[in-house]
Amino acid sequence: MGGGVEALNKARLVTKTSAQTVVIAPNIDADFSGLDVTLHRRPFRESDLDDAALIFVTDNGPDGMLAKCAARARRVALNVVDVPAECDFYTPSIIDRAPLTIAIATEGTAPVLARLVRARIEAMLSPRLGAIAALAGRMRRQVEALIGDSGSRRRYYEDLVQSAEVDIAVATDQGNIAAEALLGRHLEHKRQGSVALIGAGPGSEDLLTLRAQRLLQQADVIVHDQLVPDLVVQMGRRDAEVIAVGKAKGHHSFSQAQINSLLVRLAGQGKQVARLKSGDPMVFGRAGEEIAALRRADISYSIVPGISAAMAAAADSATPLTLRKVSSGLVMATAHGADDIELDHWAALAAAGITLALYMGKSIADKVATKLIAHGVSSQLPVGIVINAGRSDRAFYRGTLGALAGGTVPFPAGPAIILAGEAVAAGDWSGAADVAVELSKVA
Ligand code: SAH
Repeated sequence: MGGGVEALNKARLVTKTSAQTVVIAPNIDADFSGLDVTLHRRPFRESDLDDAALIFVTDNGPDGMLAKCAARARRVALNVVDVPAECDFYTPSIIDRAPLTIAIATEGTAPVLARLVRARIEAMLSPRLGAIAALAGRMRRQVEALIGDSGSRRRYYEDLVQSAEVDIAVATDQGNIAAEALLGRHLEHKRQGSVALIGAGPGSEDLLTLRAQRLLQQADVIVHDQLVPDLVVQMGRRDAEVIAVGKAKGHHSFSQAQINSLLVRLAGQGKQVARLKSGDPMVFGRAGEEIAALRRADISYSIVPGISAAMAAAADSATPLTLRKVSSGLVMATAHGADDIELDHWAALAAAGITLALYMGKSIADKVATKLIAHGVSSQLPVGIVINAGRSDRAFYRGTLGALAGGTVPFPAGPAIILAGEAVAAGDWSGAADVAVELSKVA
């Protein structure tokens, strides 16, 4: 009873069930097209309740009052939208992963809270959980035929619904293959490990992707770099083993070869390994070497992209990395160990307007700036530096390539991205410290 947006919301909910839905209102303003509903543009009549199981009343005028009284007299379950005291039942917030449904209800007291809780639970669950549940259903006969013992069957299903491998396979319609492979391994009593190379983003836990968070929740072991803050590591399963493999600047507690063999060994023991790297794993993350080692050892792996530091720095400073008519591209480069030929290339690209995002360059910023100028880049080229990008303790510096070349700015601790290019001038660097002024303070 009612024809506005609230009625539309309820109709959306009810039409997901097998019920027949009828909308009655003298004025139907909302757009019900596309929904399987019967519309009656007229006032409510008592006989409308003849076959009704439920009624929602969104009209708070006399017509709505009539509908409420009729519903009570006939004991038809009544929901008066937004008036919990007058409701016989409430509609919960729903997470729809058909065939799986999760309902969150607050007995009508705090629908906003229900929605927030829903968002949290939603983030924990793979969007493919419904497809995984359906897959488990399809596997049933095969599993019953092959695994006699009910405990072993349960372990199979536990693995199936939690396996990162199956989850990712379902995304590309390969779910059956992955489920059968898992079944084969169960029959051989082998649990196969796998490694997920996960981008942790720049260091704020809310810049993790949902997929990263989920895989962290499923991991038996989390192997992380120093640059990944504790808060992010703590997003993982509480009882997961956590191994810090160092790689902070200057302290290489594990060599790359040791990390590679660690990953192979852990996955070889049947563990689900989350290899957590800062930013995006494929950008200056030495992912190439780890992937090669996993391939050589025939260990399955997946890669989860993350927000790279350059993107976080761009967001923090509202700097468009590409900009129509100003910058037609972006170079992600490391200032560390770049040779003359590389510098020549970047200089030419920078001169053509391309934005440079320089990683690992903070301590040698002056030298890199000097070299770029020597290779022909204008000393007037705008430069912006973000330290601890994407984190609450970020710090900003701005200036020109020429100013940066003038000495070593006393930057605060933390990783830094140097952005250089004409597009940098389009960013919002108000509040940034001026590189030239900082230098003059040092002098
Ligand atoms: N894979 C990472 C890069 C790792 S290399 C990524 O995609 O971001 C390490 C370098 O990344 C650091 O020296 C620094 O230049 C940059 N970096 C990483 N995190 C950063 C952050 N929060 N802020 C600024 N720079 C960062």
